[in-house]
Order: sequence, then structure tokens, then C-alpha cells
Amino acid sequence: MTQEEQTKYKQAADWIAASRKIIIVPHYNPDGDAIGSCLALHNIFLHLGKDVNSIAPNEFPEFLQWMKSTSDILLYTKDKDRADQLLDEADLVIMVDFSSKRRMDKLEDKVLGCQAKKINIDHHPEPEELADLLFSDVSVSSTAELIYRFLKQTDLLSRMDKDIASCIFTGIMTDTGCFSHNSSQPDTFKIISHLLEYGIDKDFIFASVYQDYSENRMRLLGYALSEKMTILPGLHTAYISLSMKELERYEHQLGDTEGFVNYPFSIRGIICTALFIEKEDHIKISLRSRGGFSVNALAREIYIGGGHRNAAGATAYDSLAGSITTFINQLNYHEAELKQTAIDVEKGKH
Ligand code: 5GP
Ligand code: MN
Repeated sequence: MTQEEQTKYKQAADWIAASRKIIIVPHYNPDGDAIGSCLALHNIFLHLGKDVNSIAPNEFPEFLQWMKSTSDILLYTKDKDRADQLLDEADLVIMVDFSSKRRMDKLEDKVLGCQAKKINIDHHPEPEELADLLFSDVSVSSTAELIYRFLKQTDLLSRMDKDIASCIFTGIMTDTGCFSHNSSQPDTFKIISHLLEYGIDKDFIFASVYQDYSENRMRLLGYALSEKMTILPGLHTAYISLSMKELERYEHQLGDTEGFVNYPFSIRGIICTALFIEKEDHIKISLRSRGGFSVNALAREIYIGGGHRNAAGATAYDSLAGSITTFINQLNYHEAELKQTAIDVEKGKH
């Protein structure tokens, strides 16, 4: 660790020690890494006797609602007044799993404008300046892994218990697609090994997150794959689109389409996938890729969005058909790159 990093961890440890009222903020549409990271810190601070509150910009799926203290998370969409008051009174705010202002949605102005000291812990590329202290590493599997490192370097790992280890495990598991990508660094598995020593039940965690579908959700997946998936073989791409009407037919619940974007990778030769979901006033797009082809760049080129090289998200203020046309046009522009990446990925398999 560099001298500069050491100084930053020391500063963070001092701020935590000096703070009584601490707020943790995950990103909009929080995923497993955001909630796992948030609750790991939340529960550590409870052990330290801090007055801690977590504020999420909006709600999150039921399959993440089993972690310790989940029910304590305030939703800005529901508890705005209370959240505003807590932010006014806070000594320290820690933002986790994002480093782009936009990803706080309606919480942005309040968080950035409050008097508290601010820390940002994240693994997304090109972090914006949101905080007084930034802990950013794009090479790690997940923010949860950075939370583990943060706890270690600030001498808080001694406060870890089974529940907190489960939160960190959930973040790493979900952001690596159950260790199928972004998980080739030995450090990730050293951390997992340590988490297992706390007695976490990894099979229970897996089942809670991935084997908790409603019948409707499973049938929606079947419909999406059989009726709504388009393959563009020349572009090594597959995409799925779902309209509001189709989602309503399956009594769609928040989080039901989570993970759908990954299924087309099971098809030989596919290195780019997309999922288009129609919302009330916009289209939510999820993008995934393999190898060197960057969907982070793609999202920034054509939509309002970003993310990692191989996993990005975006919003389009367009129709479903319009946002898909934009996508295909841009893929055609990248055709040579897609073809080359497909060759590289195929070679790498052997
Ligand atoms: P998802 O497709 O699961 O919503 O998001 C995939 C990845 O892209 C995640 O790492 C997420 O943090 C990031 N991401 C999703 N939506 C946005 C967005 O609107 N802007 C940016 N900068 N990143 C996003
Ligand atoms: Mn993450």
C-alpha cells in the first residue's frame, strides 16, 4: 500500500471514530453489491454504537431483503422528510457502489449539499469527485470486496460477524455472477475463505438470491427467451426487449427481470447482450459483454449511462423500438471490433 493510501485510511478511521451520526448511501435501483456493501458498513457501525442510518434512493428487490438490518434502510422515495433531516444532522456520509452523481437520483442535491464529511467507496471506472475521500479500485470484483479491505485497513475487521460476512459475500457473489466473471484475482478467494470462517451459509445465500422466483417470474423468463430474444449473428449480439404490457401480463414485480441479460451468453459466439425494459417515461437498458468489447463505452456513446467494461446500464428517453434501432446502428459501427473480440474470446476458451 502506498503512503498516500495509508494516510487516507487513517483519515477515514479518524472520521469514523469522531462521528456519532453516520449515513450510508447506495445507488439508485440498488443491486446485491450496493445493498450488501451498505449493510456491511451499517451493521459494523451498529456494533460500534454509532447512530447509523442507511438511505437508498429507491426500493430494491425482495430477494435482497433478508440481510441483517435490511428493514432499517430508509427509501428516499418514501421517507424523504426523515432522510433530509438525518442528512442535515449527519457527521459522516459514506457513498457505496457508485461514483457518478446521477446514480443518487433525487438524493443527489441533498447528499452533496449537506455539511457532513463524505467518503466514497466504489469500483466503477472514471469516478467523479463526490467526496472528501475516495477509495476507488476498478480492478476488484465488487464494492463489497473494497468494503472488506476498508474494514481491514481501518482496524474494524475485529467487529465482523456472520451477518456482516454474509452481506459482503452477497456483494461479491452477485457482482461476479456467482464467480463466473471479474473473479480471477486470488485476493477475492482469500476474502471468501475468510468470510466462510465466520460460519456464513453460502448455500442459503445463493438460494435466497437466485432460487426465490415466483412462478410468474420464471414464466416471464421463458417468454423472454423464447419469444422476445433477437440474435444478430454477424454482430455476435443477442438482445431481449419487454414492453410494459408484456410485463403486466406476468404481474411483474420489482427485480423480476434481474439477470435476464446474462442468459444469451449461453449461446455459442455471443459476446454482447442487451435487455430493454419499457418504463413509464423511459427505457431502462442493461448491457453486458465479453472480452475487450466495452459496453461502458457503448452506453456512453448512445444513451445516458455507463458502468464497467463488461457490464453497464443506461436510460433512453425514446420508444422501445427507437432505443433498439439506436443500439443496432451503433453495433454496426463497431462490427469489426465485435468480430475481433468474438475471435479472441473463442481462442481464450481453449
Ligand atoms: P444493470 O444493468 O444491472 O442495471 O447495471 C450494470 C452495471 O452498470 C452496474 O455496475 C451498474 O452499477 C452500472 N449502471 C447501471 N445503470 C447505470 C447508469 O445509468 N449510469 C451509470 N454510470 N452506470 C450504470
Ligand atoms: Mn458493484
